[in-house]
Amino acid sequence: MRGLSRCLVVSALFLMPLLGVRAEERLRVVATTTQAADLVRAIGGERVALTALMSGGVDPHQYKPTASDIAAMNAAQAVIYSGLNLEGQFEKVFEALGQRMVRTYALSEPVLQAGFLLEEAHGVLDPHFWFDPRNWMLAAEGLAELLAELDAPNAAFYRANAAAYSAQLEALYGWAHSALTDSAIPEAKRVLITSHDAFRYFGDAFGWRVRGIQGISTVAEASVSDIQAVAELLAAEGIEVIFIESSVPRATVEAVIAAARARGVEVRLGVRALYSDAMGDPDKFGGTYLEMIVHNVITILQSFGYKVPPLPARLALSLPEDFQAR
Ligand SMILES: [Zn+2]
Repeated sequence: MRGLSRCLVVSALFLMPLLGVRAEERLRVVATTTQAADLVRAIGGERVALTALMSGGVDPHQYKPTASDIAAMNAAQAVIYSGLNLEGQFEKVFEALGQRMVRTYALSEPVLQAGFLLEEAHGVLDPHFWFDPRNWMLAAEGLAELLAELDAPNAAFYRANAAAYSAQLEALYGWAHSALTDSAIPEAKRVLITSHDAFRYFGDAFGWRVRGIQGISTVAEASVSDIQAVAELLAAEGIEVIFIESSVPRATVEAVIAAARARGVEVRLGVRALYSDAMGDPDKFGGTYLEMIVHNVITILQSFGYKVPPLPARLALSLPEDFQAR
């Protein structure tokens, strides 16, 4: 029976061009960052032919589009990017795309409209908005509306995907919030020190103070005074753990550890690098947005020696052994 129906499907596919029926066309979409690509997969599913430009571990602040990236963007119906100057090297390409009538869409746009963006000291908007899952819900809904507009016959499909995904994001937010604000973690100890300032939204969402050695972009290198200032903070507050980010070279973090040691303070590295501006490769745990947040939360808890609560069933994630609740 199963073999017969497969046979029918195959012959129907062969017949389609003969009958003048075009195979259903999928939307051609390009996504810049790993997070943007994952969201396009979650909302667009099989209705979208996706080209993802950046791979795991790539720093979007520094990434320059290649000739084949530009060709893919020129041939696309829509280019989905994060925005707020995160993709600092794409400005000219985006301008040119606008002239070619390729639709460009910043996932940060609905978050900006809702007034949930954080400002950096100099009035610059912090681009790392995805680290609050509630912001990512807005991005998911915004993307669904864009795809619904570009492919109206499938509008209900995109909106249903966004609703299902938002329910998962809500479960993720609830789990992460209760894990990171557990009463076993003294409030004074809730401090996250990382390579660059990618975690301000994360800290805001989950009640942790954050401090990056570099500012909100990795383009300017950390100065000696940045390194000394963070070492001083570690010493003054007795902070014992500092985190490397997967997309940022580890040299500045090591310089801070050495500077803290010179002050007589022993600081250890987190048990794993955190995912910040890039997620993991798709075959690793951390290769999707949901996994990236879970990866970071568990890595933080384990690094400080705190309890990892079980994941909500709604996330449908299976943890690698070294991440398991204990
Ligand atoms: Zn960044």
